[in-house]
Amino acid sequence: MEHTGSYYAATRNFATDYPRLEGTQRADVCVVGAGFTGIATALTLAERGYSVAVVEANRVGWGASGRNGGQLINGISGLAKIEKRLGPEYADLLWDIRWRGNEIVIDRVARYAIDCDLKHGFVEVALKKRHLDYIQEYAEERAAHNFPHRYELWDAEQTGANLGTSRYMGAFACYRDGHLHPLNLCIGEARAAENLGVRIFEQSPVVAIDHGANPRVRTETGHVDADAVVLAGNAYLSLQQKELTNLVFPAGSYIIATEPLSAEIVEEINPLDVAVCDLNEIVDYYRLSADKRLLYGGRCNYSGRDPASIAKAIVPRMLKVYPQLKDVRIDYEWGGKIGIVLNRIPAVGRIQGNVYYCQGYSGHGVNATHVMGEIMADAIAGTLERFDVFASTPHFRIPGSQTFGNQIIALGMLYYRLKDML
Ligand SMILES: Cc1cc2nc3c(=O)[nH]c(=O)nc-3n(C[C@H](O)[C@H](O)[C@H](O)COP(=O)(O)OP(=O)(O)OC[C@H]3O[C@@H](n4cnc5c(N)ncnc54)[C@H](O)[C@@H]3O)c2cc1C
Repeated sequence: MEHTGSYYAATRNFATDYPRLEGTQRADVCVVGAGFTGIATALTLAERGYSVAVVEANRVGWGASGRNGGQLINGISGLAKIEKRLGPEYADLLWDIRWRGNEIVIDRVARYAIDCDLKHGFVEVALKKRHLDYIQEYAEERAAHNFPHRYELWDAEQTGANLGTSRYMGAFACYRDGHLHPLNLCIGEARAAENLGVRIFEQSPVVAIDHGANPRVRTETGHVDADAVVLAGNAYLSLQQKELTNLVFPAGSYIIATEPLSAEIVEEINPLDVAVCDLNEIVDYYRLSADKRLLYGGRCNYSGRDPASIAKAIVPRMLKVYPQLKDVRIDYEWGGKIGIVLNRIPAVGRIQGNVYYCQGYSGHGVNATHVMGEIMADAIAGTLERFDVFASTPHFRIPGSQTFGNQIIALGMLYYRLKDML
């Protein structure tokens, strides 16, 4: 399939047109899926001298990686739970993991001159008293780590002045986080990987994997024989059902893009050009694009059915924050699938020793996928310390069908929605 009708697809720097996989290929590592997880893994491996083939069912960045909010936010979902389980001696390692994805993205954008509108600044906004407690803790945590990058606590008045809305009680701004055009990052990284010798195949759905000392990754028209395989299909993956089914649940997530806003409105609602996300369990998030559209995301759907009109579902949420936008045109609306794991910790592991998987970022993956790419590459080279932090996590698989699992997840999310309302 071709890209969805997103703002990102309409403004990508170039269209990728890699060949279909035909006949036999041989590589040290075969990566299945060319989103951030797959491309970050391939690029890291290529930087280290491995020969790599990436096999993508659609186009590079076709999945969540080319459709997301573009918010580059530190952390990996579930890290706090991991620290609780492993103990305080892991605190420093987990703190490094938390920031490593940002470092990789910032470094690669500079090193490979990737034009993806990277901006620094991400603001978490408080809608209730308990959110003010969270942001206070964020500031204290950074102070305790002597965090070397700029961060700020904003009171209600500063928040109103910086974001042009009276909706919030306060905010926490961190300038080591930021925002970017995710599809341009993904295709830019793919080009960097290609320049290092990575072979990329598009429009080539993988239909099966034959296991063994040299696993064979098969499509309808060809195959790759490799020493190791990395499955990076996240919420779109349906391979290895026996091991992976009912572990990660696809949920729909949706975004709208307004028409480009006037300079006066931009100055009023986001003069610092930061990304914004609220602190609810089911978040609303937004930012300006390079051409000054408001990109607003804010709804999840666990039933597997997209809303009849994405704009109708999201515009009222946007107007609660910015009533002054009531007459703006909505130029784009789109959705994509995020992979939710019950305990919110990414599902990482390997099957029969040499088929690795890494998926389920619970909607927070721009940074996480990049550190995971490095963790996968380390694991393939035999360094398992960070891999084991995730792979040793026990995951509960909901018995029964995937549909039943999705219903359980939907029920869980109802609980979170109610919590947000309190
Ligand atoms: C609307 C939306 C907004 C989001 N906003 C943010 C945000 O602002 N910040 C943030 O940090 N995260 C955000 N996320 C989450 C983030 O985008 C994801 O966590 C991340 O992109 C996952 O990357 P991935 O490479 O693992 O998966 P994907 O990008 O989904 O890529 C998987 C790829 O695998 C391919 N594939 C699947 N099966 C096969 C097969 N059998 N053969 C070959 N290829 C296959 C698919 O075609 C796809 O291209 C958002 C997600 C969505 C959907």
